[in-house]
Amino acid sequence: MFDIICTFGGSDKPYSILDFQKLPDNTIELLRYSLVCPDCRKQAYYRKKSVDGKKACFGSRYCTCRETTASSQRQREARNATEVEQIMTETDKIEISFVTASPSSVSSEPTGIRVASDITRTGNNKVYAIKSEQTRVPKVTLEKILHSLIRGTGLATSDTIIPIDGFNYKAKNLFVKFPDAEPLTKKAHRFYWGTLYNSNSDIEWLNPAECKDVGIPLGNLRKTIIDKFNISDAESLEGAAIIFSGRCRWNKDKTKKIISICDSERIFISLVD
Ligand SMILES: [Zn+2]
Repeated sequence: MFDIICTFGGSDKPYSILDFQKLPDNTIELLRYSLVCPDCRKQAYYRKKSVDGKKACFGSRYCTCRETTASSQRQREARNATEVEQIMTETDKIEISFVTASPSSVSSEPTGIRVASDITRTGNNKVYAIKSEQTRVPKVTLEKILHSLIRGTGLATSDTIIPIDGFNYKAKNLFVKFPDAEPLTKKAHRFYWGTLYNSNSDIEWLNPAECKDVGIPLGNLRKTIIDKFNISDAESLEGAAIIFSGRCRWNKDKTKKIISICDSERIFISLVD
């Protein structure tokens, strides 16, 4: 994407990539949250020129209107989103599968309806038994969930039941987009999702593209996550889509919301190819 609309200050201003990259760094920092696709007006991001020579560009993980030459990654995202949409029309309950295939290989994860076997889960003080006879709960990978959310195919606002660790959540409560993140006092599962603007150069900290007041520290999961998703450098995270099980809290000064990643199994990062 080489042209963009900037809505900063409430009025539309078009920019070409050539003009935008010439702006001073602090202006770019100010405007980059207000970029939208000129056609569909979905949120877009700015990707600066990379050290390995990739040209600066605009992109959008939400825009689907310029996909006549869709990359294989975009086609895969579209397929996944359609598949989840289809499953949602057939069932009111979806289970998340946390088995992750290597992001570069074709997923061999079985999809669609599966017969759940007898599962007995122990919550904090309750035992849940799910009978196998009538229960056919489709399993969907976190990658497919992410692509469905990014593509806006209705999962984010749906009443579909998602069981996590023996507790039932509605999809609309479980999945929280970064700008809607609120510190939680009660103990509840949340999966935070959105796209990344960048990380710091040592990949210890991720910054969402959708909002300025959220930060995501990788903490002691840094190495595991970098290895798991073959993250070669900080630049490769620009524009990536991400979802993870997290805890949201205020920083000390209550100026920024910090979302820590709960574990390295319940995370998926979809890099831009
Ligand atoms: Zn668009």
